[in-house]
Amino acid sequence: MRANLQTSAQHFAEDFDTELTRLYKAFLQVDPLDPQTATSLTAILEGWQKSAYAQLFENIYLIIPAGKAVELKHWNQTQRKLEPVLWEKDFSAVRKVCEDSKMQVDPQASWPVVRGFPVLLIPGARTRNELVPLVESGWILLTLNRGFLEHRLIPELTKKYFTTNGEILYDVAIIDPSDHGNLLLGSRPGLKLTDMSGPEAVANVFRLRLDNLLLEEVSVTSRDFAPRASKVREQQKLLLRKVPGSSSAGEIETGTTVIKEGDKKTVHTFKVLTPNPVRQALFKHRAGSLEEVVNRIRRRNLLISFSILLLLTASILLILLEARRAHRLAIQQMNFVAGISHELRTPLSVICSAGENLADSVVDDPQKIRHYGTVIRDEGRRLTEMIQQVLDFAGIQSGQKRERGWIAVRDLVGKVAGNSHQAGRETIETNVAENLPLILGDRLALESALGNLVDNAQKYSTGVRIEAREKQNGSIPEVILSVQDWGPGIDSKDIPHIFKPFYRGRNASQIHGTGLGLSVVKQVIESHGGRVTVESIAGNGSCFTIYLPGKSEEPAKQA
Ligand code: ADP
Repeated sequence: MRANLQTSAQHFAEDFDTELTRLYKAFLQVDPLDPQTATSLTAILEGWQKSAYAQLFENIYLIIPAGKAVELKHWNQTQRKLEPVLWEKDFSAVRKVCEDSKMQVDPQASWPVVRGFPVLLIPGARTRNELVPLVESGWILLTLNRGFLEHRLIPELTKKYFTTNGEILYDVAIIDPSDHGNLLLGSRPGLKLTDMSGPEAVANVFRLRLDNLLLEEVSVTSRDFAPRASKVREQQKLLLRKVPGSSSAGEIETGTTVIKEGDKKTVHTFKVLTPNPVRQALFKHRAGSLEEVVNRIRRRNLLISFSILLLLTASILLILLEARRAHRLAIQQMNFVAGISHELRTPLSVICSAGENLADSVVDDPQKIRHYGTVIRDEGRRLTEMIQQVLDFAGIQSGQKRERGWIAVRDLVGKVAGNSHQAGRETIETNVAENLPLILGDRLALESALGNLVDNAQKYSTGVRIEAREKQNGSIPEVILSVQDWGPGIDSKDIPHIFKPFYRGRNASQIHGTGLGLSVVKQVIESHGGRVTVESIAGNGSCFTIYLPGKSEEPAKQA
């Protein structure tokens, strides 16, 4: 990460400086001492205005030597002319550099930037062609647009080099170490120097990137060059080559100007001095130090790994549980098949043998014949009931929906009791309250559900009572149907399972059945928005209770 960061920081600095160098290069041809400067400035500005970074600078000044002092002229863009102005206090550092007598030692050295203020100082064109003292060739001073740098260029470059998944991760600040480390420019509003303490990477900025000018040809006209160049009348080419060097004052870079006239080339060298120490760009992760970020990523990865492990464990557990369930279900189904085959075979063999006896005229006694008839009828009914139960269960499982209508509870109870009576079973005691609410439902399904409870009560005990009453459940009237018997009751260990399909209690081994009856009851009642419960005390009978939502009056359109 650190290596990547350092590379990104270098790229950031290079891109930043390239834009400044482009500006520097554009004004390199201006000769402040030429009386025609205004014309060449207009031409340069027209070209520059079309570029994406047209707002990189704000004001243009020319600094013109006058004896030992220097004078300042301001470029008035609207009137397109130069106006003499007084030196502002802000420019005192610039003025000092321009008046610096030391600069005369190396007349062709240039200071591309001035400390403490975002300006670009470009030496006059004459310095590159003539060995005149620097103070005599003049300067072009560009004040950089701080707003544009802070709100456009720096954020754009920060986004380009320090974005991961659409999020900008680093803050960038440009400081002038010689100016007490004051923050010169920041990548976001409100960024303070203290936020940048212990930066993750540092890169030098505000340096002329002569490598960007290398081998790039610039067309210039003879007038842009001072006396020696004036010999060249035609179109000329300017070629710059970088030769690195160093001095205690800063880094010296030597440029070469090649003036080409037809096949003839003239080479001139000039020097560029980058002041030392230069300005620095500091880069710092928004989340704090890089160690902290790495730790955070490590913690997050650990958390993700553990979550995945947990998920895997949970999945394995679930698969095991599911496998056990499937195994149990398979056993139950096998038992069901075995049970139902047995259950079907018993009545069938009774019917067959009774039928055979009758057919073979083994029995002549009319009373016995009647008895055989009753046996065949009863066993036939048993078979029908069993098959009906299996069909009901299959119907519910396949999700079939049947039409629903309004049912009076009294009719429902009457029908179930009547069926039982018709089947010749013991009489059922019924107790139905007056004015019970109506139930919206599938009549046949509800009959079969209540019938199943009654069948069970008759199968496992003697004496059955159906009771129907009403109870208010919040704002909804509720019909309560209970089927009470006084049989052996249900083992408490069986109670949680008796509503599951294929489950048969331990008291049922000697009694015919499929284990589907209560499962059908539960599903029918729940599909009607109700619920079914059981209360049973071993040896003291059982009471199954159905709760169904009702309506006190049948809606008009149903009437
Ligand atoms: P089946 O009666 O065919 O076995 P059910 O689903 O109707 O299947 O009943 C499940 C189990 O619940 C029965 O095997 C039995 O053990 C128990 N059970 C149901 N109703 C009663 C009852 N009225 N008295 C005692 N046990 C009952």
